[in-house]
Amino acid sequence: MRQPLAERFFDKIQIGGDDDCWLWIGAKFLGGYGSIWYQGQNRRATRILYILLGNEVPAKFDVLHSCDNPPCMNPRHHFRGTRADNCRDMGKKGRACKGSQQWNARLTEKDIPYIRELRRNGKLYKEIAAKFDVHPVTIGDIFRRSTWKHL
Ligand SMILES: [Zn+2]
Repeated sequence: MRQPLAERFFDKIQIGGDDDCWLWIGAKFLGGYGSIWYQGQNRRATRILYILLGNEVPAKFDVLHSCDNPPCMNPRHHFRGTRADNCRDMGKKGRACKGSQQWNARLTEKDIPYIRELRRNGKLYKEIAAKFDVHPVTIGDIFRRSTWKHL
């Protein structure tokens, strides 16, 4: 039997002082964001933490970092925002807002060929999006190779 989510989850956080960054010591996505297997897919750890703490994160929202440290799991350093907020936030910090690494980070490289195959086999963007817990626009971008071009 699998350990309950909360148990295996909190084992993977190096908890520090209130204002410190708490590092995720489990698996990571490209870009350094924590990754955890939950309900059949790899999920962003920050998103799962947000939910475990009793908050809601609709699919079009991401959990963003105020500390600009992707593996950080201190909930005091997290806030909920949209992709556009994330762009603005990145802009403020003087970095380019390019896409795939940030908001597609919920997906891993092995998901991409599968997503394209589902679409070729006639699945709708919204059906595929629901399966991977992302926005249908994200699936459209992947299929048209606007993102994840290297795969
Ligand atoms: Zn932090």
